[in-house]
Amino acid sequence: MDFDALFNAQLDTLRQEGNYRIFADLERERGNFPRALNHGGSGVRDVTVWCSNDYLCMGQHPKVLQAMHEALDKSGAGAGGTRNISGTNHHHVLLERELAELHGKEAALLFTSGYVSNWATLGTLGARLPNAVILSDALNHSSMIEGIRHARCDKKIWKHNDVEDLRRKLQECPAGSTRIIAFESVYSMDGDIAPIREICDLADEFGAMTYVDEVHAVGMYGPRGGGVAEREGLMDRITLIEGTLGKAFGVMGGYITGSAALVDFVRSFSSGFIFTTALPPALAAGALASIRHLKESRWERARQKQQVAKLRARLDAIGIPHLPNPSHIVPVMVKDPVKCKMISDVLLDDHGVYVQPINYPTVPKGTERLRFTPGPGHSDEDIDHLVGALHALWKHCALARAVA
Ligand code: PMP
Repeated sequence: MDFDALFNAQLDTLRQEGNYRIFADLERERGNFPRALNHGGSGVRDVTVWCSNDYLCMGQHPKVLQAMHEALDKSGAGAGGTRNISGTNHHHVLLERELAELHGKEAALLFTSGYVSNWATLGTLGARLPNAVILSDALNHSSMIEGIRHARCDKKIWKHNDVEDLRRKLQECPAGSTRIIAFESVYSMDGDIAPIREICDLADEFGAMTYVDEVHAVGMYGPRGGGVAEREGLMDRITLIEGTLGKAFGVMGGYITGSAALVDFVRSFSSGFIFTTALPPALAAGALASIRHLKESRWERARQKQQVAKLRARLDAIGIPHLPNPSHIVPVMVKDPVKCKMISDVLLDDHGVYVQPINYPTVPKGTERLRFTPGPGHSDEDIDHLVGALHALWKHCALARAVA
């Protein structure tokens, strides 16, 4: 049996649809982010990374690196087991306490990634709570969607950020159901932000739980980096806050925070938590240093805001269309998959600018884009360089301009 033929047939379909993913072969250099070496193409070249989710350069921060080195020297490489069987290291315990405190909750629980935390937690809540119905925002991340599928409970999809539709869907839930409203705070591709207060009001009215994914917000919003819920003074109205250690905190891992009973419930019943090796202690130590730093330091957040505003203003000045959202994500709308890929290729090859094209199925057809994430490491010169290159390419591709 030629199994490879089976694999290749489906891969060919992906290629024909233009959805085959090619990864940039990057080598990040300590202390030099957002610069990186690109090993793809002909020879090794210096590039500026414009699409990283290491939003605040914390993956390179000296305090984070030092904490990781120290933990590595002290505790070794791996955790040595699942959390239940010898894998709970004191670094995990400290980190969970810190996360609970960051979000104003009684407890927190670590997972190996943000993806796993959503998948495992929604799967467990939906499967185990009596008559559970999960009400999911239409643009929720794949990890939440897969978690809801895994739960095999009833689900209702409400229109993105539409509280009227959410109300209708809450009304449709049978009496006696446990309603769980699942949504994100900052949506990763459009960069828009959920109406959290209104969602909490509805949750109160219908006696529903609120589950918010703050993956693209933790570290960056709120006076201590507690996310959008912290910024809006709503943390105590959210039942469960989920986050990642892999984006603004610059390391890796995921987590949930909530009441002691909720966290104990997930800890005790979730296979995605129980039956997998715990995070390496050094990762936990690095994440802890990162969270503590961002709780105190406002510089990274302030500088990121500044650079985001500069990029937006420069794009506006030359009429390059970008989604006007209230977040740090700057989606430049190309609206054509072939041109989107071409612009990304030319930016990389001719200008040393790396931004991955975002095409269908990650975003709907006709909304293809370049998703820029300016951070504290991008200089004014980097912004000038990027905007100059985009200006020339926009003309070359005869793309539509925004009305200034
Ligand atoms: N939730 C959202 C909204 C995400 O965008 C992502 C990752 N892109 C995740 C969860 C998964 O987080 P992690 O990368 O830590 O697995």
